[in-house]
Amino acid sequence: MPHANSASALLADVAVIGAGPAGSAAAIHAARAGFDTVLVDAASFPRDKTCGDGLTPRAMAQLDRLGITVNARYRNLGLKLHGFGGSVTAPWPQSYPCTVGTALPRVQFDALLVDTATSAGASFLQGHATAPRIEQGRLRSFHVGEQEVRAKWVIVADGVRSTFGKQLGRQWHKGEVYGIAARAYATSPRAAEPWMHSHVELKDDAGVLQPGYGWIFPLGEQLGQVNIGLGALSTQARPAKINTKKLLETYATQQRAEWGLGAVVKVASAALPMGGAVSRVAGKNWVLIGDAAACVNPLNGEGIDYGLETAALAVELIGSAPGELDTAWPHTLREHYGRAFLLARTAARLLTYPKFLPVAGPVALRGPAGKLLMPAAARLMGNLVTEEDQDLLARAWRLAGAGVHAARRNTPLWS
Ligand SMILES: Cc1cc2nc3c(=O)[nH]c(=O)nc-3n(C[C@H](O)[C@H](O)[C@H](O)COP(=O)(O)OP(=O)(O)OC[C@H]3O[C@@H](n4cnc5c(N)ncnc54)[C@H](O)[C@@H]3O)c2cc1C
Repeated sequence: MPHANSASALLADVAVIGAGPAGSAAAIHAARAGFDTVLVDAASFPRDKTCGDGLTPRAMAQLDRLGITVNARYRNLGLKLHGFGGSVTAPWPQSYPCTVGTALPRVQFDALLVDTATSAGASFLQGHATAPRIEQGRLRSFHVGEQEVRAKWVIVADGVRSTFGKQLGRQWHKGEVYGIAARAYATSPRAAEPWMHSHVELKDDAGVLQPGYGWIFPLGEQLGQVNIGLGALSTQARPAKINTKKLLETYATQQRAEWGLGAVVKVASAALPMGGAVSRVAGKNWVLIGDAAACVNPLNGEGIDYGLETAALAVELIGSAPGELDTAWPHTLREHYGRAFLLARTAARLLTYPKFLPVAGPVALRGPAGKLLMPAAARLMGNLVTEEDQDLLARAWRLAGAGVHAARRNTPLWS
């Protein structure tokens, strides 16, 4: 257990700042690996987090690894895409180690992970982490209120704004694609339906096509609700000019009859850093993980899975090569996600051009070409291709990734 020294500083092997999925998973891995671990969060749990609550097979594989079962009575089988007069069903690929997904409101999901971390032996400290003291490139201590915390290693998982990370020099490059999104909840008689739905033809009250896509993620019969939301991709040069909360109300009105939706409640919006478009993600004894390190898939906005994965990778790195992390951590991130994220960022950029979707949408969602292409596209969008996959699509994806990686050598990617 972390303990106090004579000057009352709290001493730990590993301090984790932020108890979202990334931070809690890091605390679980660290505690189970035998490190004295303290997990710090500004909030007390349970607390809400603006999110679509969707857990893809990628996230489920990590939850299996952690031994955590989520929303046991509800599983989904893939994605149904609608728009431009067509619909396509894209089941989760059977080649991935986990073949089902689920969804659970973050207010419950995050609290479950914090509980698992404390059961694993991590201690939880509530309060804002501030005042990092850096000496010779090492983060020597920080404060949580009056409490000084000193740890050999610090894992920073403080989310999209990364207020603590910023004090360590973290910079978010908004010239690259980022997301803006809003979500709400509504009751629905279709809450048990085993598919996530996405509407890629989003129109405002006046029937004008808007940049972005909507989603309805059922949460299972027990909860009797769906998570309904929408997101759009932006860059500094081409910001998506939409009021996400207002458009969400319009989208819910459009879907009400088909889904039997009740009133939308808990409407909230947030931004998403994406595809590794941040720099200064590590120092000698600290690393940034999850949203703080922009580990969000630019093609579908999922970040819970990458939060869970980067948590495991960070603890592995500390455990196996506890030397200096400032070069090892960006290298690890680039090795695992560099090609896929850069390729996804490049493809996502196309969606920020207003003329792209009206041309590509009908081809993708109507007729025989879409039925053939979209399941493959959904597999790529979800980055559900493993290094072991040897099929044609997986090989083409890796080749394209290598090409984009070489062509965009100077673009910000955890550097
Ligand atoms: C509208 C929307 C929909 C989304 N839908 C999905 C989806 O369906 N599926 C999916 O996989 N991803 C989705 N995402 C992305 C997902 O929400 C994030 O990628 C995920 O929450 C990242 O987890 P995290 O642990 O890195 O950060 P967070 O979950 O944001 O946790 C950060 C924690 O750090 C704490 N904190 C911050 N600063 C400090 C400080 N100084 N001291 C102490 N504590 C601090 C906060 O209180 C918070 O608890 C969505 C995002 C948005 C905005």
